[in-house]
Amino acid sequence: MSSSVIAIDGPAASGKSTAAKNLAKELGIPYINTGSLYRAIAWKAIRLGIGFSDEEAVCAMLKNTTVRYASPEPGANPEIEIDGTFPGEELRKSEVAGGASSVAVLPGVRSWTMGIQRDAAKHSMIVMEGRDIGTAVFPDARYKFFLTASPRVRALRRLAQDGETPDGATVESVAAQIAERDLRDSQRATAPLRQAEDAILVDSSDMTAEEVLFFMLSKIRKSVSASIEYQVPFADTDQMGVVYYANYLVYFEMARAELMRSISFSYTQMEKTGFGLPVLEAVCRYHSPAHFEDKLVITATLTEIKGVRLRVDCTVKRGDTLLAEGYTWHACLNSKTGRPSRVPGEISDLFTMGEGKKS
Ligand code: C5P
Repeated sequence: MSSSVIAIDGPAASGKSTAAKNLAKELGIPYINTGSLYRAIAWKAIRLGIGFSDEEAVCAMLKNTTVRYASPEPGANPEIEIDGTFPGEELRKSEVAGGASSVAVLPGVRSWTMGIQRDAAKHSMIVMEGRDIGTAVFPDARYKFFLTASPRVRALRRLAQDGETPDGATVESVAAQIAERDLRDSQRATAPLRQAEDAILVDSSDMTAEEVLFFMLSKIRKSVSASIEYQVPFADTDQMGVVYYANYLVYFEMARAELMRSISFSYTQMEKTGFGLPVLEAVCRYHSPAHFEDKLVITATLTEIKGVRLRVDCTVKRGDTLLAEGYTWHACLNSKTGRPSRVPGEISDLFTMGEGKKS
């Protein structure tokens, strides 16, 4: 059984944090930046005047350190909390980043961080970004991506991030700093930075953040769809002898019900579990009319889940001819309280369970 982790590994400034954030938002799940764990350790070591390579002193410090991922405010994405405080932006400083890659070399540090990272993934599906998530922390991650970009592009991206580089930094100096960190990360003996064999490589040098997101989603999302056959009865047609336009929304609804049944989440079951999916928006484009006794195939496909909303796309075909197409957006409501609620795991999990490994 694979873990419910989407791993994004890669070298410094390759766009992992942006990709992780966007992907998590799109899937309506949390994400965790594991680099912040090593940064927090370096941050505390600096404050206590402990040398990054002094393994004994760093490990002694960890014995008196409590670290966890927690939301700084209700509903916010989890962030690193160390000894009861959220260091936040402090961790972005370049001396902290450099210190992070130095303490990350120490085996004692890596075994300490392992448990914290594994605990963070216990409760729900999660996106986790780092250097060794797909190779060491979660070798059984459900999806693995290895994100990279050319050294120049990475240096430019890092320079564009406020507070990440010292004053007067240039593309060349930042590229050299990144190269030094990459070397340390990939040459260390314990859990070095490398692409897992079953990870999907994403070279984002010439890609926008949206393109990276779209590519990852295309690897993760399984097409969840269902079709029904339907022969047009006379009652569906209008005075002109064609199917009355409003009936197409009923056809969409019939296919949607089949879709829910096919993923073992029938409307009846939905009601029993206290969920409803009222329509927020319905769109239909008409290409060609259907007539009495035409044999139609109506297909519904779950195409998007965003927090409390989901979208189902539908087509109506006669043979190979597309007669109408459209979509509906639904809110997921707790029918007892009438309040919006996360799309149930039975649906969202299925949506992200495609065989996503390898491109
Ligand atoms: O990703 P970020 O730049 O915040 O990571 C800081 C440092 O932490 C990295 O350079 C790397 O040395 C270390 N790290 C690691 N394993 C991870 C995440 C980060 O060794 N999973």
